[in-house]
Amino acid sequence: MVIHENCSVKEYNTFKMDVHCARLACVEHPEEVQQMAEQGLFQSEHFILGGGSNVLFTQDFAGTIIHPVFKEIEVVEESADEVLLRVAAGEEWEHLQLYCLQHQLYGIENLIGIPGLVGSAPVQNIGAYGVEVKNTIASVEGLRTDTLQPFALTNAQCHFGYRDSIFKRELKGKCFITHVTFRLSKREHYTLAYKALSQELERRNLQPSLQNITDCILHVRNSKLPDISKIGCAGSFFQNPIVPQAQFEQLLLTVPDLVSYPADDGFVKLAAGQLIEKAGWKGRRVGDAGVYDKQALVLVNYGNATPQEIVSVFRQVIEDVKKRFGVILSPEVNLL
Ligand SMILES: Cc1cc2nc3c(=O)[nH]c(=O)nc-3n(C[C@H](O)[C@H](O)[C@H](O)COP(=O)(O)OP(=O)(O)OC[C@H]3O[C@@H](n4cnc5c(N)ncnc54)[C@H](O)[C@@H]3O)c2cc1C
Repeated sequence: MVIHENCSVKEYNTFKMDVHCARLACVEHPEEVQQMAEQGLFQSEHFILGGGSNVLFTQDFAGTIIHPVFKEIEVVEESADEVLLRVAAGEEWEHLQLYCLQHQLYGIENLIGIPGLVGSAPVQNIGAYGVEVKNTIASVEGLRTDTLQPFALTNAQCHFGYRDSIFKRELKGKCFITHVTFRLSKREHYTLAYKALSQELERRNLQPSLQNITDCILHVRNSKLPDISKIGCAGSFFQNPIVPQAQFEQLLLTVPDLVSYPADDGFVKLAAGQLIEKAGWKGRRVGDAGVYDKQALVLVNYGNATPQEIVSVFRQVIEDVKKRFGVILSPEVNLL
């Protein structure tokens, strides 16, 4: 394990917030997680940080940032139809995607381009282009940081939902995920229901294949999302709000083009990006903080925005959307 004292986390979060932590512990082997438990590290203030692409550091962090860097992709079971891959938490999500592309494994190809590490993927059940990672997760293993006992949860025990899992609820802040096991198919099959993907394949006159889907999705994503090597952000900043059917119908009277998606009985999911755009925030900039001009759901740091500036923008966005539509937006990003 490599420990850095009093260091900036700027290079460890995609928002590029330049705040300091008291300690940054880079965990190089899964066995070190047990050693950290024995040293009492989980009893003091700490935060487990993957690629930092779903967090906003709002201030200096007085405790230890624990950052897994151990990597491994292991085939644990294989049949004519499927492969079970046990992947270490510190593996880059992108590297797993490339592995699947090289080995012709089907199931997560639509999730190409999502930044971050494998250990974080189950936390918010990452999803894109009609696919959620829960469809391929067989189990999640690690150490409970409250009881210091190892855990292994099956897919059903992870209580996956839309951008949600047990790791964001009952087990929030209580687990160090060390490995995720994926069940991937060797049989060719694709999820093409998402319009932007099928349209891009059609536009290029391409048949579906792992490579073609990868190329098309990366193209569509790059046209909508900032390049995080140049502009700081954490992807979609807000969750799509879910409102009662009656409120939705009332809103439709004044906003006839209101975008909606199905939700649980009696509720409707709205598009947060549309509400933000209609509230006049798309492309608006306050100093180096702002709302991205190509996608209103994304808050951005154009260079040297401070955490206070980003927080001020997101609070104003929430306030204006609430005033205009009576809908309360909640951040999807983890605030620290
Ligand atoms: C440009 C951009 C595009 C994005 N597009 C998408 C998208 O299409 N779909 C989508 O779902 N998300 C998207 N995201 C959000 C983000 O990439 C994902 O949520 C990703 O899984 C976060 O991974 P990370 O390693 O960066 O996690 P972090 O941001 O480091 O952490 C996220 C959460 O997971 C916890 N965590 C991390 N590692 C562990 C571990 N080993 N054990 C226990 N808890 C852990 C952290 O404590 C934190 O609560 C996007 C982000 C960006 C910047």
